[in-house]
Amino acid sequence: MSIRVLAPDTIAKIAAGEVVERPASVVKELVENSLDAGATHIDIEIKGGTNWIRVTDNGTGIPRDEAELAFQRHATSKITSLADLENGTSLGFRGEALPSIAHVAQVEMVTRHEQETSGTYLRLQDGRVVDRGIRAHPQGTTITVRNLFRNVPARLKYLKSLAAENGQISNVASQYSLAFPVVRFTLVIDGRRALQTPGNGRLRDVLAEVYGLQVAQAMLEVGKAEKQGGFTPVISGYASPSSISRANRSYITFLVNQRWIQSRLLTRAVEKAYEGLLGVGRYPIAVINLSLPPHSIDVNVHPTKREIRFAQEPIVFNTVYGAVRRTLMEKMPVPEVGPSPHPLPTTEEPAPGFATRATREERPALLSPISPATPARAAPSSVIPALHVLGQSAATYIIAEGPDGVYLIDQHAAHERILFEKVMVQQARKEVEVQSLLEPLTIELSPRQEQLLSVREETLSRFGFVIEPFGERACLLRAVPAMLAREGLAEAVKEILDSLEEEDDLSKREEKVAMSLACHGAVRAGQALSQEEMRELVKQLEKATSPRTCPHGRPTMLHLSSGRLQREFGRG
Ligand code: ADP
Ligand code: MG
Repeated sequence: MSIRVLAPDTIAKIAAGEVVERPASVVKELVENSLDAGATHIDIEIKGGTNWIRVTDNGTGIPRDEAELAFQRHATSKITSLADLENGTSLGFRGEALPSIAHVAQVEMVTRHEQETSGTYLRLQDGRVVDRGIRAHPQGTTITVRNLFRNVPARLKYLKSLAAENGQISNVASQYSLAFPVVRFTLVIDGRRALQTPGNGRLRDVLAEVYGLQVAQAMLEVGKAEKQGGFTPVISGYASPSSISRANRSYITFLVNQRWIQSRLLTRAVEKAYEGLLGVGRYPIAVINLSLPPHSIDVNVHPTKREIRFAQEPIVFNTVYGAVRRTLMEKMPVPEVGPSPHPLPTTEEPAPGFATRATREERPALLSPISPATPARAAPSSVIPALHVLGQSAATYIIAEGPDGVYLIDQHAAHERILFEKVMVQQARKEVEVQSLLEPLTIELSPRQEQLLSVREETLSRFGFVIEPFGERACLLRAVPAMLAREGLAEAVKEILDSLEEEDDLSKREEKVAMSLACHGAVRAGQALSQEEMRELVKQLEKATSPRTCPHGRPTMLHLSSGRLQREFGRG
C-alpha cells in the first residue's frame, strides 16, 4: 500500500481514542470542564453504561457565539500559549475533550452563559453539528453523550462489564469529590444515587460519603510539611491509621493543584511512610493534596493529563513522605506488643547471642525457612514431620520439636494455610459450611465496592455469603462462611470486594476470596493458645498440601536443626 494521509474523520477518531478510552474518561473530561467553569454543583447521571451519560453544571456556561467552537479540535478558552500552561491551574488546556467525545458518540449540549438570557442548543453527530437552536436553561452547561463507541466497534468490544465500567465512573466521581470538597457532586447510576457530597468544603465529610463514616472518623489529618530546600510545598489531606488498611493501592488519592493524578513517586513516598506499620500486601487509605508552583510541574505528559512530571522529585517525595510519616508518628499511638511486619531474622541478621567465629559467608542460616517442597508434590503426610508442641512464644509463635530439631511456627500464617485449603476444597465440592447471622449486618460500601458487589455476588455466594443490596451504598449481610471469625465481618466483606477488583479470571477470583477468608478467619498473632489448640493446629498443618507457606507465600515455620544446635553450642 502506498503512503497517503489519512482522512480527517479517521484522524479524528484515532486522536479521540487517546482521550476517550472508556465511559469513565467521558465523565472525567466533562467533570473537569465543569470544574474549570467554576461550577459549585455538578450532577452526573448514567444510564445503561455507554448508552447515556449526562453531566450538568452551574458554571459560567459558554457564550452563544463560542458554543460551536468548543467542539473544534484544539479550541480552548483556557490558554493562548505554552507560557500560559506554565502558570495556569485549569484542568483542561488541550482543547481535545469535546471534539473527541463528539467523534465517538452523539452529543447534545445546552449551555447558558452567565451574561445571556437564553441557552444555546447544539447536537453533533460524527463530530459535526447537525442541529442548533435556542433552549431555556439555567446558567451553566448540560452535556448529554449517547451511544458512546457505537461507531467504534473495536473499542466497544474491549470494554469491561457494565458494572465494571460503572465502578470506574463511581471512582472518577469519588476522586473529584475528594479533590473539590467545596463542590456538591451527585452521581446517579441507572436511577440509583451512588454518591452525593455536601459541597461544604470539608474534606472529612466527603471522606464519609466516599469511604463511610467509620473510616472518615478514624482518618488522621496530615499536618504541615517542613521546609524543603528552596520552597515549602503545601500539603494537606488525610491518612488512615494502621488499624485501617486495604488490599490494594486504589484507596490512595493524589491531587496536585487539585488535579487527580497517578504517580509512582508519590505512591512510593506514602508506602514508605507506612513502612513497618502495615502487613505485607496491605495499603492505606489516603488523600494527599499538594499545592506546587505551576511552573514546577509539567502536566502536559499524556492526553489524559493523569501523569505529571515534577521538576524537583526529591523535594516532592520528601514532603509527602515526611508529612505522612510525621502524622502517623505523632497522631497514632504505636502498640507496644504487636505482630512484626518483618519475618524473623534469617541469614543476613544472625540473632544476637549466637555469634560465632565463622564469617557470615560460611555461615549457613541459623533459622532457615523450610524450603518449599520439591516441584513434584510429596504425599501430604511427608511434607513436614510430625511435630510435638512444646509451648508458645510472644503469643504468636508455636514452639515445637520434630525428629530433627526445633520448629517455630507462625500461628496466624499456619492457620491461614489450613483454612485456605479447607475452604477451597469445600467450595469446589459446594459444601461450604455456612453460618446464618442472628441479626443481619448492615455494611456501608463505597460506590466502587457497591458496583463490585453487583457483579461479584455470585462468586461470594459460592463461598457461603448471603448478601443483599440494601438501600443506597449499603448491603445486608445475612450469612457468612462458618470459618469467618465473628468480629470484623464488615471489614472482611469489604476487603474481599476490594481484592476482586480487576480480577476477570474466575479461578483467581476464587483464590482471592479464599485467601481473604483464611486471613480473617485465622487466629491472630498475639492470641494466647491452649496446649490443646496448638496441638490441633499443628496436626492440621501436617495434613495440609502445602504446609510450608501461607497462601501469600510467607513461610509458616522456621527450623533450627539438631546439627545446627550442636555446632552452635560447640558439641560436635
Ligand atoms: P479544554 O478543556 O482543554 O479547553 P475541551 O474540549 O474540554 O477543551 O473544551 C473546550 C472549551 O469548551 C473549553 O476551553 C471551555 O471554554 C468550553 N467548555 C467546555 N465545557 C464547558 C463547561 N461545562 N462550562 C463552560 N465552558 C465549557
Ligand atoms: Mg476539557
